[in-house]
Amino acid sequence: MRDYNTERTRMVDEQLIPRGITDSRVLKAMRTVPRHRFVEMGQKDMAYTDQPLAIGHQQTISQPYIVALMTQALKPGPEDKVLEIGTGSGYQAAVLAELCHEVYTVEKIKELLESARAVLKDLGYDNVISKLHDGTLGWPDHAPYDAILVTAGAPEIPGPLMDQLADGGRMLIPVGDQTYQELVKITKKDGEIHKEKLGGCRFVPLLGKHGW
Ligand code: SAH
Repeated sequence: MRDYNTERTRMVDEQLIPRGITDSRVLKAMRTVPRHRFVEMGQKDMAYTDQPLAIGHQQTISQPYIVALMTQALKPGPEDKVLEIGTGSGYQAAVLAELCHEVYTVEKIKELLESARAVLKDLGYDNVISKLHDGTLGWPDHAPYDAILVTAGAPEIPGPLMDQLADGGRMLIPVGDQTYQELVKITKKDGEIHKEKLGGCRFVPLLGKHGW
């Protein structure tokens, strides 16, 4: 039986803190969420290693550092309503669920969504609400969102997501081609849009009406 708690503590101390993840709430969430529950059976030994992992259907669970970096940049508050595009394994949604009031997450692959739902339910994350849909259209029913996190690489920022971002809200989205993207942070304040580039990254493609 592996000691996942020790592996998770080491992940935070060796992969996150030295690279500049300093937000104590984010570090606490990363120390709490059992990442090994979100990876496939044959990959549990690698759950806390410094890399993305395959989750089936040609999709991946992001490297722990990237999850922490995006979460920290998103500045999720305890009262916030957050929208995630690309549920995948459900891991990022669980990290957000530790930090926010409500997490809405959209996935387009049925099997991934069903398996993420089962794990999130089993772990008691009842503030995560999910649906099977094209996430480039957002989820207008619950808009506006204080924060939007897109966990797949987009050719451009989907208009509906911009519209569903609250004033004072933050959005993080990888923008670029299908193999390499820049992580872009968008802030909406008094109707004005501010964009900041946070560095290079590599996500699977965001497919759909306003994606690839
Ligand atoms: N956040 C995930 C990782 C996501 S990988 C985690 O923590 O595990 C990217 C996911 O985005 C994939 O599961 C892919 O199916 C999904 N995706 C791609 N385009 C999408 C779209 N238009 N709408 C919803 N999900 C999409």
